[in-house]
Amino acid sequence: MGYPDTFAGFAVESAEKWNQPKYREYKPRPFEDRDVDIQVIACGVCGSDVHTVTSGWGACPYPLIVGHEIVGYVKRVGDKCVTGLKVGQRVGVGAQAWACLECRQCKNDNEVYCPHMRDTYGSEYPDGSIMQGGYSSHVRIHEYFVFAIPDALKTELVAPMLCAGATAFSPLNRNGCGPGKRVGIVGIGGIGHFGILFAKALGAEVFAISRSDKKKEDAIKLGADGFIATQDKDWNKEHSMTFDLIVNCANSTKDFDLSAYMSLLDVNGRFINVGLPEGDGFKVEPFKMLGNGAVFGFSHIASRPEIIKMLDLAAEKGIESWVETLPVGEKGCGEALSRCYANDVRYRFTLTDYDKAFPN
Ligand SMILES: [Zn+2]
Ligand SMILES: [Zn+2]
Repeated sequence: MGYPDTFAGFAVESAEKWNQPKYREYKPRPFEDRDVDIQVIACGVCGSDVHTVTSGWGACPYPLIVGHEIVGYVKRVGDKCVTGLKVGQRVGVGAQAWACLECRQCKNDNEVYCPHMRDTYGSEYPDGSIMQGGYSSHVRIHEYFVFAIPDALKTELVAPMLCAGATAFSPLNRNGCGPGKRVGIVGIGGIGHFGILFAKALGAEVFAISRSDKKKEDAIKLGADGFIATQDKDWNKEHSMTFDLIVNCANSTKDFDLSAYMSLLDVNGRFINVGLPEGDGFKVEPFKMLGNGAVFGFSHIASRPEIIKMLDLAAEKGIESWVETLPVGEKGCGEALSRCYANDVRYRFTLTDYDKAFPN
């Protein structure tokens, strides 16, 4: 068997074996008239993949093939597709694969907040099948969640933009990042490195905010104008009430003094979280936080118009993700998951060499 009857991929079978994915063939869900089939050529490795396969975020529907930073070529386009995708075209898919496209949120270009949204992997499809991600030979996705990739962007570098990049871009786009604004990016990792790249590209003055000085050189290379190490004594005092926007990309709330971060904000400044740490979350201290009338909020991936805007910006400004490539396969996927878990990557893995793992 093989395409179009079966797809193949590298599936995690249990929480205990989270970093030992195994080759597996599976039957894709039925093809619908607005679906697109994509032959995958690369896929980024997201922190979500690790949180999911380890069951860190809760129950995982094993066996599961993860991966939601997918790049590939269109193989088949449904009869009722309207977005103009063509067979052979290079496209990308991010962390969302479905929304109702009819509710209030969907009609306002907020399909990413649709109450019926489905993730690219791990969600149940109406026929009862579980959606599988991009550590796979092929994916079948509703066209609304498939994006044409501008020619200027290299496959292995654009893949991580589809989730990590989009996640960093949306809060900048929605909260006024631009010339004349001072923007802080907390946590220099997969998402945070995009935060610096995109905030700079949008014209803001950008500060990287990290625990220690270890990533200072990287932050400056990425384009940061300033760097703050939070392990320094009174680190927040000097910058008190000077920031317009802070995007928190850190994936841990351990020893996280939220009040100190909020004190950096100018009046009505915004502190927006995009990381989803496991564990207890933030401690809110009203008396310490009311002095600047600041706003504490959240942001979830990005809408279709935002992803298109981000890809165009990246192409126009020549923005390049920092990527290490690994060949897709049992070994490569396992290594990527293990090293991602250990934070041993600067700053993203992209799985490549799909033609060798899936010859047909
Ligand atoms: Zn992701
Ligand atoms: Zn909806």
